Amino acid sequence: MAIDAYEAVIGLEVHTHLLTRSKLFCGCAASFGAGPNENVCPVCMGMPGVLPVLNRYAVELALRMALAAHSEVQSYSVFARKSYFYPDLPKGYQISQYELPLCKGGYIEIGNGGGASRQIRLVRIHMEEDAGKNIHEADSSLVDFNRSGVPLVEIVSEPDIRSADEAGAYLRELRAILRYVGASEGRMEEGNFRCDVNVSVRRKGSSELGTKTEIKNLNSFRFVEKAIAYEVARQVEILEAGGRIAQETHLWDPIREETRPMRSKEFANDYRYFPEPDLPPLRLEAEMIEQVRASMPELPAQRRERFQREFGLGTYEAIILTEDREIADYFEQVIAEGVKPKTAANWIMTEVLRKLNETRKPLSEAVQPAQYGVLLKKVEDGTISLSAAKTANTAMWESGKDAMTIITEMGLIQISDEAAIAAACDKIIAAEASKVAEYRSGRDKLFGFFVGQVMKAMGGKGNPKMVNEVLRQRLAGG
Ligand SMILES: [Zn+2]
Repeated sequence: MAIDAYEAVIGLEVHTHLLTRSKLFCGCAASFGAGPNENVCPVCMGMPGVLPVLNRYAVELALRMALAAHSEVQSYSVFARKSYFYPDLPKGYQISQYELPLCKGGYIEIGNGGGASRQIRLVRIHMEEDAGKNIHEADSSLVDFNRSGVPLVEIVSEPDIRSADEAGAYLRELRAILRYVGASEGRMEEGNFRCDVNVSVRRKGSSELGTKTEIKNLNSFRFVEKAIAYEVARQVEILEAGGRIAQETHLWDPIREETRPMRSKEFANDYRYFPEPDLPPLRLEAEMIEQVRASMPELPAQRRERFQREFGLGTYEAIILTEDREIADYFEQVIAEGVKPKTAANWIMTEVLRKLNETRKPLSEAVQPAQYGVLLKKVEDGTISLSAAKTANTAMWESGKDAMTIITEMGLIQISDEAAIAAACDKIIAAEASKVAEYRSGRDKLFGFFVGQVMKAMGGKGNPKMVNEVLRQRLAGG
C-alpha cells in the first residue's frame, strides 16, 4: 500500500481553560453551567471605556503548566490584541499574546506502553481570553457571554508527532499534567480542552515539509485520532494521483467521519496583532517563578517512574494508573490497606475502571479503598477465589454493603478443606471411568474437564489450586 511510503507530520494547538474562580480581566465567575449571561460585566461584555485588570492567579496556573512542561518562562511578556469580528466577541478583538509569549520551548514526554518514550517539543505556551458562545436556533441566533473573558492557555507543539496514536498519547499526557498541577480540569465535554490539528505528509526519509491542512476545534481524543487518520489517507491519495495539497482549514464531521474545507472567508487570517494598550507588559519576578516551582506537586511522569520502582509495576500498568491523579491516589490507598501492589493494580485496571465506566459515577462514589482492602486480602489468603471477589464486587457496587457482609450473605468463602476436596475428586473419578482411562492413555487435554466437573460438584467454591493438585495426584495414581 502506498500509504506506507509516507509519514505524517503533525502539530497540535491545545486551548484549555485555567481553573480560576474569576475571569482573566474582570471579577466575574469563570465557572461553567450558569444560566445565559449571568456571569457578565461591562469589562467582559466589551463596553467602551472599561479597563482590563490581569488575574494574578491565572498567571500562576499558566506558570505551573509551563514548569511541568520544561518550558522557559519569560520574565517579560506582552499581551496583544488579535482583531477579528464575530458576534461572540463584542470588543472586536481578543486579548492574547503574540510576539512575546509567557513561555517558549519545552517538551511533553510520551510513552507508548512498553517501548521507548519520546519527547514532543513545544513551540510556546501563552495566555489569552476565551470568546463567548453563539447559539443558533431555528429562527434566531443568541449569544451567551458567560465564557467571554475566561482565562485560557494555548499550548503549541512543534510538528514532532508522527501518527494518530502519538497525537492521542500526547493529548492524554498533556491533560494529565494539567490536572496534576491543578491548572485545568481538562474536560473536553464542557469545551474547556479543545484542539486544532496541523497535518501534512511527506515521503519517508524526506526532511522537507509538505503543505499542511489545519483541522479546527476538535473536542474529543477519539475525534482527533480519527480526523488525523482520515486526513493522512486523504492527502496520500491526492499525492499518489499526482495532485497537490491545498493549504486549507478543515472541519471534522463526526457523523460522516470525514474532514471538509471551511469556506475561505471563514478563516481570513488578518488579525492585525498589536500590543494591548490597556495592559502593561507582564513582568515576572524571579522570586515568583521560584515560589511556583517550589509548590509543584509530583508530576505524572515522576509518579509513573515511582510506581514502577516502588511497586514493581510494568510500564503499561504505570501509565494507566497515573493518567488520573485521583485513580493514582486510590491505588495507593488500596495498597495502604495491606493489599499487594500487583493485586491492587490488576483489580483497579479491570474491575474498578470498568465499573466507573459502566455506572458513569465519579471515583468519590465508588466502593471505598478500605472495602477493597478487606476483599482483596481475602483473595490473597485463599479465603475466596478471584471470581468470587468479582461476584462480590458487583453486589458491593449495587447494594453499597461492605465486603464481609456480601461474602457471608452470598456464601462466597471457598472450600480449602483437603478431605472435602479429595472426596469430590474421588466421586468424579469413579463416575467418569471411561474418561479416566482415556486420560491415562495420554489424552492430557481431559484434565480441564475433570477440574470443571469437580468445581461444578463443589458449587464453584473449591479452592482451584488445591483441586488441581489433588486431581493430578489421583489421576496419576492409577
Ligand atoms: Zn466580567
